[in-house]
Amino acid sequence: MQKNRNFFLGKEISSLRIAVTTRCILRCRYCFVKKNNKVMRYRSAARAIELLLESGGRDKMISFYGGEPLLCFDLLKELIILIRRRERELGKKAAVSVATNGILLTDEKIAFFKDSGTKIALSIDGPKATHDRARLFINGKGSFSVVKERACAAIKKLDKADISALFGVLPQSAKYMHKNLSYLNTLGFDTINIEPVQGLRYRWGDRERNAFSSQLQFFIKRIYEGISSKKFIFLSSINRQLQGGRLTDPKRKCPFFNNLEIYPDGEIIFSPLLFNLANNGGYAVGNINSRLSAKFGSCVYDPHAFDCEHCWERYYKDDNFLARISGIVRLRDEYCLEAAELISAVAKNNHLFKNYVAEAKKRVFE
Ligand code: SF4
Repeated sequence: MQKNRNFFLGKEISSLRIAVTTRCILRCRYCFVKKNNKVMRYRSAARAIELLLESGGRDKMISFYGGEPLLCFDLLKELIILIRRRERELGKKAAVSVATNGILLTDEKIAFFKDSGTKIALSIDGPKATHDRARLFINGKGSFSVVKERACAAIKKLDKADISALFGVLPQSAKYMHKNLSYLNTLGFDTINIEPVQGLRYRWGDRERNAFSSQLQFFIKRIYEGISSKKFIFLSSINRQLQGGRLTDPKRKCPFFNNLEIYPDGEIIFSPLLFNLANNGGYAVGNINSRLSAKFGSCVYDPHAFDCEHCWERYYKDDNFLARISGIVRLRDEYCLEAAELISAVAKNNHLFKNYVAEAKKRVFE
C-alpha cells in the first residue's frame, strides 16, 4: 500500500463522500445505485478519512451515503468517533453529514448524531402524492408516512442548522416545485437541497427546464423577501457559495478537490451516476486500499496546465453525455450563484442579510 503522503500526490481534498453500503430498504424509481449488498470495511473508510484530514487545508466536509447508510449504523458510529478524534489531533475542522432515506432514523440514532455534531440530510420529495410517486418500499408501497414521522421527530430534536431536506425533482414534477418546496418548509425544514433527478431515463426537455427555472426563480424571490421579514429559508447551493465561494472555487477544476467519493470495495470515483452505469467499473480511478490509476496517480494540480483544465472532460470521456446529464444541475447552480452574489452584496450594509449569511454558512451538508 502507498504511504499516505504519496497517495494523492499532494492534491488538496476539501470534501469526501463515502458510500458505506449499496444495500437499501427502499427501491426508489430513480435510484441508480446497483443494490448488490456491498458493505464497506472499516479499514477502507478509515483510510479515506485519514487521507482527507491529512491533505492541505483546515476545513473539511465528510458525507456518508449509500444505499442506506443507517443500515450500517455501528460502522458509522465508529467512523464518526474516529473523525472527531483525528480532527482534534490534526488541528482540522470536519463537518460530517449523513444522507438517509429516514426510515431507520430512530430516536437513539438521532441522539447519537446530535451528540456527535453530525448533520442529517433526509430524502423527501414533497407531500405524499409527489413523494410516493418515486420513493417506494421493496413491496411497492410508498414510504411517505414513515419518512414524514421520522423527519418531524428529527426536526424536533436537532438544531435547525443540522437537518436538511434532500429534495429530488423529477422532470415531470418541476412545475410543482415551488408548492413542494413550500410544503417542506412548512414541515419544519429550513434548509433544502434541490436535487434534479438525472440519468438516461430522465429527459429534461425545454418545457421541463423552463418550469424548473421559473419555479426556482419564484422560490428564490421568496427567500429574499423572507430575509427582510426575518423568516430565513436556505437552499444548499446558495449556502455553498456563501460559505467560501464553493460553487466558483477554481480548485473545483480538480475532481479530487470537491468530488472525491469512495465506494464500498474501496473504488475511488468522481461520479456515482457514471460509475453505476458502467458495466466495467470504467469510472473508478483507483482503489483506496491500493493505488490510483496511472492517469491520475502522477498528476499534480496546476490551474494553468492543459490536463487540469480539461480534467473533467477526460473523466466523462464524452462531452455530449456530460452536457446532457449535468445541464439541469448547472442551471440550478447558476441561479443560486446569482442569488448568493446578491445576498452577499446586500449583507454589506444590512444586518438581517448579514445574519442570514452567517446562518447559511452553518448549513452546508456536502
Ligand atoms: S489532471 Fe486532473 S486530477 Fe490531476 S491534478 Fe490536474 S485536475 Fe487534478
